[in-house]
Amino acid sequence: MGRIMNNILYKSTRGGEDNITAAEAILRGIATDGGLFVPKEIPTLKSSFEELSKMDYREVAYSVMKEFFQDYSEEELRYCINNAYDKKFDCEEIAPIVKAGDEYYLELYHGPTLAFKDMALSILPYLMTTAAKKRKMDKEIVILTATSGDTGKAALEGFSDVEGTRIIVFFPQEGVSEVQRMQMITHKGDNTSVVGIKGNFDDAQTAVKNIFTSKEFNDLLNDNGFAFSSANSINIGRLVPQVAYYVYTYATLLKNGEIKEGEKINVVVPTGNFGNILAAYYAKQMGTPIDKLICASNDNKVLYDFMSTGEYDKERKFFTTISPSMDILISSNLERLLYIISGNSSETVATLMNDLKEKGSYKITEEMKESLKDFFGGYADEEKTLNSVKKVFQKKNYLMDTHTAVAHAVYEEYLKETKDTNKAVIISTASPYKFTAPVMKAVDKKYEGVDDFELVKEMEKLTSIAIPEGIKDLEKREILHTRICAKEAINEEVMDILNFK
Ligand SMILES: *Cc1c(COP(=O)(O)O)cnc(C)c1O
Repeated sequence: MGRIMNNILYKSTRGGEDNITAAEAILRGIATDGGLFVPKEIPTLKSSFEELSKMDYREVAYSVMKEFFQDYSEEELRYCINNAYDKKFDCEEIAPIVKAGDEYYLELYHGPTLAFKDMALSILPYLMTTAAKKRKMDKEIVILTATSGDTGKAALEGFSDVEGTRIIVFFPQEGVSEVQRMQMITHKGDNTSVVGIKGNFDDAQTAVKNIFTSKEFNDLLNDNGFAFSSANSINIGRLVPQVAYYVYTYATLLKNGEIKEGEKINVVVPTGNFGNILAAYYAKQMGTPIDKLICASNDNKVLYDFMSTGEYDKERKFFTTISPSMDILISSNLERLLYIISGNSSETVATLMNDLKEKGSYKITEEMKESLKDFFGGYADEEKTLNSVKKVFQKKNYLMDTHTAVAHAVYEEYLKETKDTNKAVIISTASPYKFTAPVMKAVDKKYEGVDDFELVKEMEKLTSIAIPEGIKDLEKREILHTRICAKEAINEEVMDILNFK
């Protein structure tokens, strides 16, 4: 098959830009009209699952990415993939599937920073620097990243000392776990900066998005030899690599004889910014036999409400929870789903996004809501989440982190409600070692109040799973980043870090 024949191009969800190549979309991160880049059509898989089931992770990743990134040569893509999915993952499979009881857990946390963000952020720097070369870009790329806790460290890890790039991470000062915070502020790498924001994740994400779309600020930056890009899941270069592990999961279940070819499975995804579950939806559109996409929220249940009523309303109380990476009220990637369920209507998306900005809410049509039936929305409060951690550990000897536990709790509710007999894969997004305090407290009250790093050692004793390299002696590392700024002062902070006025 010639790859030029049906070259997939990208456009902005809001219609302001059209016919953009994948390389350009990845380099820029977000469109000038504030919309997100989406493929003009979602390609299909060219290999059968019979063939895919004989491939390793890298081969499957290539089969998926070559369809979306058609302006990259085979050599370029394989270079990116081979450098991303290598020994920095602590197991050969890259994304192993574990069966506990009747459920399958897709463990996406075997990368260097112990959360699923590594699946995409280990490859994004390669995709981006390759794109810069292809486009003969002469500017230094500045990656601006807002994090709810896990993206920050994964992006720092990915972009550290990558030539031609700088990275600045903004994290909410209140609301990340102690392990997450220490991972970021002790990070080495000459091209890295980490800033604590006085605000929550939404404040950080909105401020960063505003910078991207400010023409004035971008011009100023350009004059100083820089160009911005994003490592958040608004970047299509983060989303597409995530599609690969859904295809890989299906292929692996087939290989292991757990399912028959064509048999439909459900996936259960702990959701915040809607990136991970959107990747599952893309995988389904590509031809992976996925039936239901179960969207699990924590107490910040804006997506659950949206799926049940068709109205998205961000004007509500924000909760800081024990699953901080899902503490989000503005789920950016939902915009990409709206684009699809509106029948690729940029006008509709632009109107809805304007309503969100002006009124804090929007409502979709009945017809659009009908197209949401692939999804099931649910949420788990703190108590249910802790209960899931405890129950699964006691009954199945499997220790989950709090985000995965939200998914588990919602899945139980789903089963009760629907009696669905499809096999289900629960997406395990972080290692329990990243959230020791709530996880250990859930297992046994006696751990309450014990220091997070003491609990790391206790967790090792309890599970006999060795402490992952990424957090070994984390508490003893030198603190290298002490910047703190108000959410209104992000522009000045960026100028100060980049050393221009
Ligand atoms: C980022 C994150 C999530 C949410 O993923 P989205 O793609 O933002 O929906 C869930 N769990 C963990 C551990 C995360 O780091």
